[in-house]
Amino acid sequence: MLTLQCPYCGIMADETELSPGGEAHLTRFGPGSGDDDFEGYLFLRENPRGVHFERWRHSYGCGKWFLAARDTTTMQVFGTYAAQTTEPPASIVDEIRGSKPGFSWRDLFKPA
Ligand SMILES: [Zn+2]
Repeated sequence: MLTLQCPYCGIMADETELSPGGEAHLTRFGPGSGDDDFEGYLFLRENPRGVHFERWRHSYGCGKWFLAARDTTTMQVFGTYAAQTTEPPASIVDEIRGSKPGFSWRDLFKPA
């Protein structure tokens, strides 16, 4: 079972207490953007086999949204952080790179 620590209230919450919110760190494109950018924002997702950045809501706790970095194959959780964060904290990136050398993801992380 997936267990994530809510960064707001500090509780280790089972996934039954949480609601998934899809992929984190999406670049949002509104109605004034081009068709390709808007289509990508609406429909295109990474859905990786490996490290993924996700949105979760502590539904049966404090009710707040937060972000989590985890490996979808091993269920290893690298960390959770506030939903208002535009990119993962350096401590989480370091932990991912320690576990997955050469990890890269979109334009946020280039291989070290
Ligand atoms: Zn909480």
